[in-house]
Amino acid sequence: MKVNKIKGTLDFYQYDAKKYRYLQRIASGVAESFGFREMITPIFEATEVFVRSVGEGSDIVNKEMYTFIDRGDRSITLRPEGTAPVTRAFVENKLYAIPGIHKFYYFGPMFRYERPQAGRLRQFTQFGVEAFGGEHPNLDADLINLNYQILQAIGIKNIKVLINTIGSGKARENYVEALKLHFEPHLSTLCEDCKQRYQKNPLRMLDCKVDCHSPIMQSAPLVSNYLPEEDLKYFQDVMSALNFFGIPFEKSDRLVRGLDYYTNTVFEIVYDDPNSPLNNLALSAGGRYNSLTRDFDGPDYPAIGFAMGIERLMMVMDELDITVSETKDDTITVITLGEKMKKQGLLLTQYLRLKGKRVEIDYQSHNLKPQFKLADRTGSRYIIIIGLDEFENNQIRIKDSWEKTEILIPVPELTAFFGIEGEKYAYQK
Ligand code: ATP
Ligand code: MG
Repeated sequence: MKVNKIKGTLDFYQYDAKKYRYLQRIASGVAESFGFREMITPIFEATEVFVRSVGEGSDIVNKEMYTFIDRGDRSITLRPEGTAPVTRAFVENKLYAIPGIHKFYYFGPMFRYERPQAGRLRQFTQFGVEAFGGEHPNLDADLINLNYQILQAIGIKNIKVLINTIGSGKARENYVEALKLHFEPHLSTLCEDCKQRYQKNPLRMLDCKVDCHSPIMQSAPLVSNYLPEEDLKYFQDVMSALNFFGIPFEKSDRLVRGLDYYTNTVFEIVYDDPNSPLNNLALSAGGRYNSLTRDFDGPDYPAIGFAMGIERLMMVMDELDITVSETKDDTITVITLGEKMKKQGLLLTQYLRLKGKRVEIDYQSHNLKPQFKLADRTGSRYIIIIGLDEFENNQIRIKDSWEKTEILIPVPELTAFFGIEGEKYAYQK
């Protein structure tokens, strides 16, 4: 029987694998320049890690987790997101003991049991960052700036940055009460999801993709009317800082986030091209979460982060024809003639590979035709030919298939030809 990949997962190979790693490189590089360092956490965690933090009211904990009991009777969950594990690690390893702001980035697969569709997978990849410590509008703005700059560096220019503040504590509780009051008389007209969210997480009702245009959604109270002056001032300052960084953004009164842990600043970056089928696709989302370290029994440590969906970025790269600029691929194929020369070919291959060259060799053929085919298939620029004559005369033949030239040089000159430093190469006789 044929076995296929699990629904909602992807195989990446050839150029897609390159794009995937390219995005990892670009994102990590920009994050490094903003002073972030990598954190690598396990792909599975105790289920508790997510239940405690992401929250029972969230879609993730409610219906999307891959949870199983292991052979030791522990409840284990494949991580659905990266913030909870990084925070768990931050607290567990007492990284907070050193004062200051701690900045981490991560990259890796996440697992959510969702209905697979374009851009919505069951295993997908996130690049995310978390900054622990420091609660200042400049930091919030700089983090949004980082997210924006990563997208710019990839070449994704048409994006919309949406931001909002959802407050915290008592003010947020009051707002949630007001939302419930507003929606209660109209519940029967709303979708099933909304009805559930009304019970579990009323804030999320604003995030409904089914009822978003209904009048009752449009007339819902705004969070800004419920927040204390200092929260509004904080948000104002985030926006001013974004302005001086030159980041275009839109204030979006109804932007909320699906996870329980967010407080105050929240944001989302969506693809923005009304003529594209990808218009409004969420590329990235994040916000401040000031109480998460406490959920893991750590000290109070305000934090902020975001996560980007790598597969979605790959979709946008295709849409915009963004190609991964490669340094010219100077692959070398070593061709040998006659049985006795194969060993010389293999030794030269080994030498060149250890000097960092990408080298191909046919392990068995002694004839030209299949070996030239290999050179062709691997897009080799250089073809080195070792025959008995070359070997006995201590020479080597090098064809440059781009320049369409061919030279016959003494073997020791090969080292300089390929720009290799150090001892000169010689045949092993
Ligand atoms: P939504 O409301 O669309 O489900 P979310 O709140 O679950 O979004 P986050 O958890 O904030 O999304 O994830 C951040 C980013 O990760 C998203 O903007 C998206 O790019 C990507 N992402 C999230 N879920 C998936 C998925 N199932 N498949 C592919 N990418 C995803
Ligand atoms: Mg989701």
